[in-house]
Amino acid sequence: MSQNHRGTALVTGASSGIGAVYAERIARSGYDLILVARNREKLAALAERISNETQKGVEIIDADLNDRTALARVEAKLKDDASITLLVNNAGVGTHTPLLDSDVDAMTRMIDLNVTALTRLTYAAVPGFVARGKGAVINIASIVSIAPELLNGVYGGTKAFVLAFSQSLHHELAAKGVRVQAVLPGATATDFWESGGLPIDNLDPAIVMSAADMVDASLIGFERGELVTIPSLHDGAKYQAYEAARQAMAPELSTNAPAARYAA
Ligand code: NAP
Repeated sequence: MSQNHRGTALVTGASSGIGAVYAERIARSGYDLILVARNREKLAALAERISNETQKGVEIIDADLNDRTALARVEAKLKDDASITLLVNNAGVGTHTPLLDSDVDAMTRMIDLNVTALTRLTYAAVPGFVARGKGAVINIASIVSIAPELLNGVYGGTKAFVLAFSQSLHHELAAKGVRVQAVLPGATATDFWESGGLPIDNLDPAIVMSAADMVDASLIGFERGELVTIPSLHDGAKYQAYEAARQAMAPELSTNAPAARYAA
């Protein structure tokens, strides 16, 4: 990214892991920052470090995005602050327990964060972006968006939502000057694994990427205008073929008669 002033980026889940790396990289590329997460001490320490290193303005909002009142404060910021040109919807949690071993209340809280908060924040930001003819949304999905068998199914379902929502946003907003990117990380070395009940030592190091490499690759994809970025997929042609097959099917998915294979 260039070093010009690029407006302000609001990054959720910025207190650790992928979000903290995004915050640092984005500030270096010329954005002021608004960092959102629950842990105020971690946010404050990161904000101080980034503003010292980059001389960019860094604001923090400590908010539990599972709490509707706190979420509304972040929504209000996105609606009211016309300097915001980039929303990074990164805050999210996962779990690694199988469906039958998972607590449905915990699954619902995961949906509230990974889906509902992400949706509400996007709704808060995008009308201003459209009105100003400029803005971008980076949504952190996951490879389980397209491979839900790999981890907990509710987690995969939330990330499939993020991918589908991003594709639809791109479809509706590209002509209005709004950029959308869905990032599909594979296993990335962050607290996500420990928090979800499966410490990262349990994974084969061959499938684990550092958060720094993951974010740097994703930002290259962003600068190239990619809608979907899968940093760890080496053979990009495979995703292109998958996407081409999906798009080829689309015009044939709704017809006035059942397919011949369903004849009684
Ligand atoms: P992480 O280190 O655990 O970071 C999660 C971030 O979300 C933290 O900053 C956390 O901060 C914040 N957060 C969690 N609950 C929150 C809440 N209720 N309200 C506000 N903020 C909240 O994990 P990560 O790997 O960087 O995860 C970032 C994103 O990447 C997630 O969406 C995750 O699904 C996705 N992802 C991760 C991997 C992976 O292998 N690590 C792979 C694919 C996708 P506080 O605790 O301070 O609130």
